Amino acid sequence: MTFRGVGRSFGPHDVVAGVDLHVAPGEVIAVLGPSGCGKSTLLRLAAGLDAPTTGSIVIGDAAVRSWDRRCAVAFQEPRLLPWRSLRENVALGLPRTRRRRSAAEDARVDELLELVGLADFAGYRPRAVSGGMAQRASLARALARDPYVLLLDEPFGALDALTRLKMQDLLLSVHAASPATILLVTHDVDEALQLADRIVLLGPDADAAADAAAANRAGTADGVVTYREVAAR
Ligand code: ATP
Ligand code: MG
Repeated sequence: MTFRGVGRSFGPHDVVAGVDLHVAPGEVIAVLGPSGCGKSTLLRLAAGLDAPTTGSIVIGDAAVRSWDRRCAVAFQEPRLLPWRSLRENVALGLPRTRRRRSAAEDARVDELLELVGLADFAGYRPRAVSGGMAQRASLARALARDPYVLLLDEPFGALDALTRLKMQDLLLSVHAASPATILLVTHDVDEALQLADRIVLLGPDADAAADAAAANRAGTADGVVTYREVAAR
C-alpha cells in the first residue's frame, strides 16, 4: 500500500497533509500522534471511506476505491448493529457472494468468535455485553473479511490491561497465520513498539517526537517516519 502526497482538508483545515508512505505487504505500521491530529482521518482515507483532497493511495497497482473490498476496518468504537447478535455482526464481515451462508462460512464465524474469546456470548446482542467484548466482536468482524489491509483504530483502547495484552498477543498470532498489511492507530507507545515493524508519527510535534524516540531508542530510529501537520487549529 502506497500513500503519495496524501492530504485531506476540511474547509480551511489541512487535517492530513503530505503523507508519503510505502507499506510493504504484510508490514505492521503503528500510527501515533496526539488527539485530533488526523489518525482516524488517515485510516478512513486508506479504507476508501473518504477521499483525499490531494495525492493518491494505491494497493498493489490499483487505486483505493470507495469502500475498498481489499480493506477491513475496526473503528475506535465497535459500531455493531444493536438488534443483531454478536454472531450475526461478525458474519456481516464475511466477503459473501450468496444470500445464504454456507456451512464453511458458519464455521469461520464460530472460529473467529472462539479466537476473540466470545464463543459463549455469540447469541448476545451488543448491549448485553461489555464495551471490551463488543470491541472484540468488531475486530472479529474485520478479520472475517480476510482483508489484504487491516485498518485498526485504537482497537484495544477501551479494554482492561489484561485483556489488552491478550488481544495484542492475539493480533500477533493472527498476523503470523495470515499476514495482512496492518495500519494500527494507538496511543500506547509500548503497544506500538511491541506490535509494529515501523511507527509513523502524525501531528504538529511529529519531528520533535521522532527525535526524542531516536535518542531514547537507538536502533528503532530507522523505523520512524514523521509528518508535520500543516493545520493551524
Ligand atoms: P483521536 O486521537 O482523538 O481519535 P484523531 O487523530 O483520530 O484523534 P481525527 O478524528 O482524524 O483525529 O480528526 C482530526 C481533525 O479533523 C479534527 O480536528 C476533526 O475535527 C477534523 N475532522 C475529522 N473529520 C471531519 C469532518 N468530516 N468534517 C470536518 N472536520 C473533520
Ligand atoms: Mg481517532
